[in-house]
Amino acid sequence: MRLLVVEDDADLNRQLATALEEAGYVVDVAFDGEEGHFLGETEPYDAIILDIGLPSMDGISVLEKWRREEIKIPVLILTARDRWSDKVAGMDAGADDYVSKPFHMEEVLARVRALLRRSKGHASNEIEVGTLRLDTKSARVTVDGTTIKLTSHEYRLLAYLVHHKDKVISRTELVEHLYDQDFDRDSNTIEVFVGRLRKKIPSDLIQTVRGLGYCLSTNENEV
Ligand code: CA
Repeated sequence: MRLLVVEDDADLNRQLATALEEAGYVVDVAFDGEEGHFLGETEPYDAIILDIGLPSMDGISVLEKWRREEIKIPVLILTARDRWSDKVAGMDAGADDYVSKPFHMEEVLARVRALLRRSKGHASNEIEVGTLRLDTKSARVTVDGTTIKLTSHEYRLLAYLVHHKDKVISRTELVEHLYDQDFDRDSNTIEVFVGRLRKKIPSDLIQTVRGLGYCLSTNENEV
């Protein structure tokens, strides 16, 4: 899952990016409204964390512009504690949720998890596909109740497929959602990681759909 953090406070931006990366996301960062708006309109993020008070273009304007452009990426806004009007303006501009500053990082992480699972159509943090279960809160994967050890790359790939279970996902989409903008994007890498994952989970769960991509599913006939 790939996220964008738009926050002009360099320390806070770094803290957010670090915490989100540790939680298993890929994170791009922007430090002003124009840069943030540009990235949000050109890159296919899974969710965006957007500060309201930003130089060059304020967060509300950035959000309004995205929504006018039909960009539907879920957005969590960061608001100053006593500015209730920012929360109202932000939600009306198309934000999906908000966190007031100062916040506990755990709250941001929980709200991001909720945004992601809702936007992908899941009600719970635990998503099951056959005997495989992914807990997005603890980033734990089990098969038949046994924990499977995954590298961070393998986890990100599996989490993306699990969130989009029963859907065919192209290699291009995987590359776009699993690596940040500076990554040298080579879709052969995806094949290597899929191969490694298949050795760790029931191998028939990830199906190759020739010419289209991959599908994580227990139902072979639907693909
Ligand atoms: Ca700010």
